[in-house]
Amino acid sequence: EALTNQIAAGEVIERPASVVKELVENSIDAGASRIRIDFMDAGLKQIVVQDNGTGIARDQIDLAFTRHATSKINNERDLFNVSTLGFRGEALASISAVAHVEMITAAADEIGTKAVFVGGNKKTEEDAAARKGTKITVKDLFLNTPARLKYLRSPRTEMMKIVDIVNRISLGYPQISFTLSNAGKVLLRTPGNGNLAQTVANVYGRHIAEKMIPFKNADSDFQVSGLMSRPELTRSTRNFISILLNGRYIRNFRLNTAIMEGYGSKLTARHYPVVVVAIKVDPLLVDVNVHPTKQEVRLSKEKELSRLITAAISDNLISHPE
Ligand code: ADP
Ligand code: MG
Repeated sequence: EALTNQIAAGEVIERPASVVKELVENSIDAGASRIRIDFMDAGLKQIVVQDNGTGIARDQIDLAFTRHATSKINNERDLFNVSTLGFRGEALASISAVAHVEMITAAADEIGTKAVFVGGNKKTEEDAAARKGTKITVKDLFLNTPARLKYLRSPRTEMMKIVDIVNRISLGYPQISFTLSNAGKVLLRTPGNGNLAQTVANVYGRHIAEKMIPFKNADSDFQVSGLMSRPELTRSTRNFISILLNGRYIRNFRLNTAIMEGYGSKLTARHYPVVVVAIKVDPLLVDVNVHPTKQEVRLSKEKELSRLITAAISDNLISHPE
């Protein structure tokens, strides 16, 4: 059992940034409007994620740490209509299989609970004074799985992966205030007022946000909106393109290509724009259950969506000439 948990954990939790992603997604699913993330030593020593979401009732805590026991999917139909970021019930079980996890949580009208899980097993559970919400502290990640440690990149790279994932998630949820800090030093703070341009300014800097223009397009299935850089503002990597499908950051080659095609000849070789595109779609048209990290999804009508994105961008360049 402990071994299967460790093996399965490897699929969801590859590195410190995976822990951050899973915990932050849980906070979002719990309806939080404020999420704070702090890490130490690139997340290997400690990762803390604190939210003001629903909290977890004491009698649900064990279930939350049990593999495949999710509160978010009740039947097979739900699996094809996923409206939450999580649904596989793997993250907390996986993280606790490869780290020391302390959780302080309180649901409304309940005294709080502090519980400690190590190596997948609950060690302690006691009363704790806490406001509604959840604070999870993950310590000594991969200490009991040294093979995993060997696959990690340099501390700086691992840290940048944490920053990158929090950046992308905060672009997908401008209505949530995110604070990311490294040993207390704030790296990112977003206002959480729903304003994407302000969120972009916090993530990429004001000098970039100022050179971006809004775009929008829709058909009967998709609503596409976002911010795009004017063609004179380019970067040397694709990393400044974020595609957010119902808030979820996804990687999708075809949609990336659709964005580039929107710019067409306005971009020279090896120059990439800064684009944040939010796509709203009926969850029934999306299959998120194709990869454990859920960053790859299967989309119905991807061609139609691609055309919609390309048109939104190219039309915008015509209406906003340089
Ligand atoms: P999943 O998100 O796929 O359901 P997780 O292992 O990530 O699986 O979480 C298990 C369960 O624990 C969730 O379904 C949810 O009920 C509960 N949970 C986890 N984190 C939080 C949180 N921050 N606030 C409230 N509930 C949470
Ligand atoms: Mg989850």
